Amino acid sequence: MIKLIGRTASLLACFSFLLLGTHLQAGWQAGAAKIVITPEEDMWMAGYASRKTPSEGVLQDLHAKSLVLADDEGNKIVMVTTDLVGIPRIIRENVVSAVSKKHQLRPDQILLNASHTHCGPELRPSKSTIYELDPAIAAQCHEYRLALEKKIEQVISESLKDLEPVDVTYTYGRAGFAMNRRYPLPNGSFKNSPYPAGPVQQQVPVLTAKTAEGGLKAILFGYACHNTTTGIMQFNGDYAGAAQAILEKSHPGTIALFMEGCGGDQNPYPRGQEKNIEQHGTALALAVETALQDIRPTPLTGKIETVLGEVPIPFAKMPTRSELEEKLEDGNVYVRRHARLMLNRLDTEGSIPAEYPYMVQCLQLGNELTMVALAGEVVVDYDHLIREQLPVKNLWIAGYSNDVFGYVPSLRVLKEGGYEGGEAMIYSNLPGPFADSVEDRILGEVQKLYGELENEKSAP
Ligand SMILES: [Zn+2]
Repeated sequence: MIKLIGRTASLLACFSFLLLGTHLQAGWQAGAAKIVITPEEDMWMAGYASRKTPSEGVLQDLHAKSLVLADDEGNKIVMVTTDLVGIPRIIRENVVSAVSKKHQLRPDQILLNASHTHCGPELRPSKSTIYELDPAIAAQCHEYRLALEKKIEQVISESLKDLEPVDVTYTYGRAGFAMNRRYPLPNGSFKNSPYPAGPVQQQVPVLTAKTAEGGLKAILFGYACHNTTTGIMQFNGDYAGAAQAILEKSHPGTIALFMEGCGGDQNPYPRGQEKNIEQHGTALALAVETALQDIRPTPLTGKIETVLGEVPIPFAKMPTRSELEEKLEDGNVYVRRHARLMLNRLDTEGSIPAEYPYMVQCLQLGNELTMVALAGEVVVDYDHLIREQLPVKNLWIAGYSNDVFGYVPSLRVLKEGGYEGGEAMIYSNLPGPFADSVEDRILGEVQKLYGELENEKSAP
């Protein structure tokens, strides 16, 4: 009986397939590809300044993955996700310049996101000074970065070649392991510790691309949480890497891509043990599976629009040469190294700009989904502030996109201070904390770009 039902169902499916052909709802296409980016030899790992030695093997391969969506007019967006600590601006510039020429893409059609794993290779040029890397090790990081750029270009090309008709939908699940990590102490300072009363964003946005035959071609999912379950010495993609691997195993043939959200002040808890990686990866993969069970996910139809902007964000105060020289004698080794890095910049560049050119990208993925991709390690307040600001039903807000240079505090976090508020700047190549205008400038740029998308939409 069961067999008979099965056969009848498949006959019906064949019949409706013949009737409908391969015609899909919106005339959209998707292409997806992935490439292994695990270093071929042990090298310096990114993320924790306290590391004293290079990596010791591989727990799980690291990947760069590319998902291209194209609407029925051929408007495209290329979204690249990576199991990396960040995308330094230089990588974006080199990749965009190579890919835009080869494939006739504009810079606003390319989004690069990093999962922020702290168990990947170091690739940020400024970290050689901050970590006082041996020149041979720094050269190895440089070589890795150059090879990585080629691999990202390759994975983008492969995803573009893979374009085929699909139905694209959006929905979301929920996962609870992210918690605010800014625990306020009675003396006004903050301890990096789970703070249950702090703001979080535990939504797991999920976009799927399904072929005419119903095959799940790609799953793009996100979460706003530091990808820092452990600091083990084996390369691995942390919970985000585990979640992608679990999803790809349970959906053979599917490419699962993770996009980091506004997780600047969020940590996965519990953390520290290797088993926690798999636990959080499983929790996140299950949140995606739950979203896949939504019986009415939102179909994405209409046009794909993309805009990219840059807004200057001033620093609170620029250090003078004599202040920096004084800091070379500071008791804190990181203050000394940061001062040396700033003095190097003064010597080689002549001056340090008093503002940072902050990148914001906005995407309209059909009529029903707006995506905002912010540069840097954005704290979770931005997720909530942008949701209040933009009058849209479905909003996906990514952080760690296109240029990961350091922390981006909201005005609240900036005023409160602590690590994400400004202290972490000594681990970056920037002069110091941002000015109070940081939040207004970023939200203003988001509003401006959203307005441009709206204008495009209403254009004939
Ligand atoms: Zn971080």
